Amino acid sequence: MKPVSKIAEAVRASTTLAVDSLAKQMKADGLDVIRFGTGEPDFKTPDNISMAGIAAICEGKTKYTPAAGIIPLRKAIAKQLKDDCGLDYDYTQIVIASGAKHSVYIALAAITNPGDEIILAAPFWVSYYEMVKMAGGTPVIIEAGEKQNFKITAEQLETAITENTKAIILNNPSNPTGMIYNKEELKAIADVCVKNDIYIIADEIYYKLVYDGIEFTSIASLGEEVKERTLLINGVSKSYAMTGWRVGYCAANKQLAKIMSNFLSHSTGAPSTISQWASVEAINGPQEGIEEMRKAFEERRNYIVERMNSIPGVSCIVPNGAFYVMMNMEKLVGRTLGGKLIENDDDFAVAFLEKALVATVPCSGFGIKNFVRWSYASSMENIKEGLDRLEKFLAE
Ligand code: PMP
Ligand code: GLU
Repeated sequence: MKPVSKIAEAVRASTTLAVDSLAKQMKADGLDVIRFGTGEPDFKTPDNISMAGIAAICEGKTKYTPAAGIIPLRKAIAKQLKDDCGLDYDYTQIVIASGAKHSVYIALAAITNPGDEIILAAPFWVSYYEMVKMAGGTPVIIEAGEKQNFKITAEQLETAITENTKAIILNNPSNPTGMIYNKEELKAIADVCVKNDIYIIADEIYYKLVYDGIEFTSIASLGEEVKERTLLINGVSKSYAMTGWRVGYCAANKQLAKIMSNFLSHSTGAPSTISQWASVEAINGPQEGIEEMRKAFEERRNYIVERMNSIPGVSCIVPNGAFYVMMNMEKLVGRTLGGKLIENDDDFAVAFLEKALVATVPCSGFGIKNFVRWSYASSMENIKEGLDRLEKFLAE
């Protein structure tokens, strides 16, 4: 047979999703596995949103929609971006896709030519790396370790830029680190992007999940020149506990919005109509439940950070957003745990899952070694039990 596509063949499976399916399989086999793998809110989608989805079905809102999405949703998003981030977008600049993951891919497809370099800040969300390659680009990594709070500096960015650089993907608040860039840090990065004329794919999907009284700044709000170059990614998955509904979006300049819309019209057609109507309710409806979820995440964050730092052999710095903690397990390298020699984070995550029945994500796939990501989008009860198991596992 003829060879398959080289680009497609090189795509690796998502580690975040792989860990989760293994943990789910173990659970289905009757094992008492606790899952801190995949990052998705454990809360149920609020009832008013689900009811809007049901109403859409009953009212026959079940037909094709324009490729870029229904106008009420695009208008609701434009208003939310104005209210929450001070951003002025016309609804025609908002392009809906089937989840923010899809929006990142469409954004990359809209700007990437073969050989273009796309800068990623490591640790990065595993899908960025693969999506850059899927779009025909070359990922270029800037390392931002724990010592620099997992955040890149403008100087690092300047050094990484070449004549082939097309864009940087900046995820703020970050998955997997939970770190947040403040306004000054963003301004310095944005200045470098404008000076060097590179695009910014700004993934702000966790923007509502910020703690410690921090005020979130969208990079696109830092001036017209930055906004013109920004492909702003967001969606309803994390803020409204709607991961399975598959609705995300990209806000961009009109030329890019048109390109993305054309691209979608020949690939997915449009996202699910029912999910789009439910998302209108998510954004336009009552927001109190959302704040309750945020507060619950903050409480869990406080607990997990304190507990983790009290267990000998592991540690973490304090994340201010999203729902992830990066557990530093460097000191465990060379030890035998659960009968297995631990040489790296992959070994640890496998042993921890197999022996202690706790699912976490090893961070080597995120471009950093000797860290394991815990998603604390799980009940407090589970978090306590998970840390009890960690303590016991390490005390062997
Ligand atoms: N960006 C980041 C940083 C994420 O963590 C996720 C979660 N998978 C996504 C995008 C994708 O979100 P969605 O479920 O809307 O595709
Ligand atoms: N963003 C989540 C995670 O990192 C969901 C899984 C995925 O889509 O990769 O776990």
